[in-house]
Amino acid sequence: MKKALSFEFFPPKTEEAQEKLRHTRKQLRQFQPEFFSCTFGAGGTTKDGTLNTVMEIMTEGTPAAPHLSCIGATYEGIAEILEEYKSHGIRHIVALRGDIPSGMVSLGDFRYASELVAFIREKHGDWFHIEVAAYPEYHPQAKNAQDDINNFVTKVKAGANSAITQYFFNADAYFAFVDEVQAKGVNIPIVPGILPITSSSQLVRFSDMCGAEVPRWLKLKLQSYGDDIASIKALGLDVTTALADKLLTQGAPSLHFYTLNQAGTVSTICQRLGY
Ligand code: FAD
Repeated sequence: MKKALSFEFFPPKTEEAQEKLRHTRKQLRQFQPEFFSCTFGAGGTTKDGTLNTVMEIMTEGTPAAPHLSCIGATYEGIAEILEEYKSHGIRHIVALRGDIPSGMVSLGDFRYASELVAFIREKHGDWFHIEVAAYPEYHPQAKNAQDDINNFVTKVKAGANSAITQYFFNADAYFAFVDEVQAKGVNIPIVPGILPITSSSQLVRFSDMCGAEVPRWLKLKLQSYGDDIASIKALGLDVTTALADKLLTQGAPSLHFYTLNQAGTVSTICQRLGY
């Protein structure tokens, strides 16, 4: 039996983008995803868009998980969102701190995602399946690697059911991370997040922000293709398919794809993996 897949979207801003996302979901449903998830803008900027997208996905018959980030939020604000999710029958959440938007005046009531996880458990017991974020190459703001590992363990112990990783290209970093946190008593599934490569400049920009390492050989090779999008996509497909295959073969529990609301590249990777 094939391992499960999940796919992540962001809330579309226009009617046209909504329609395009419906089409993306239709294509990805052929892989019988375990769930679709939808991101949540830090500071609550996409609160309605996230909920509307998740509701639409559920109406289409696919399980869905809204992300929820707590930076800048108050206890009351988060409690209200959780009540709303619950009232709509949502039982699966991706709980995050969020990135601190520049110019944000107040950080709000929560400092870390572990506090959000504890808050959700305190208010709603086991109603929600809670996913959290994991960073095999460590979070860019972590004091050091060991501290980041310990903070992840604390977050899991606050009540997380499973974790999804930041994307990475080095499978060894993932397996080393899993070994290390398991040695500290973590036994929840840690699902690799896979980012399809469709643009060289976008990849470098994203990776600088989130602390994912693009191997030197890959960066140089992508850059050498210049504007040759077809070659960039072809190399990207080979690299991500090989990575995903290695992860699945060597024990990753399932895969989570950062789709950027596009189905094409992700579908090809899944097909190449035999889905
Ligand atoms: P945390 O787990 O709180 O960690 C953040 C930093 O604080 C780390 O460096 C950690 O080591 C440190 N830390 C944690 N606890 C402590 C402590 N007690 N003392 C000192 N330091 C501590 N962002 C969004 O805005 N919306 C989204 O929808 C979204 N979805 C995401 C989905 C996935 C799968 C991933 C991997 C990331 C996502 N992000 C999203 C990005 C995420 O919000 C950022 O990476 C953010 O900077 C960290 O969030 P976190 O939940 O991992 O934070």
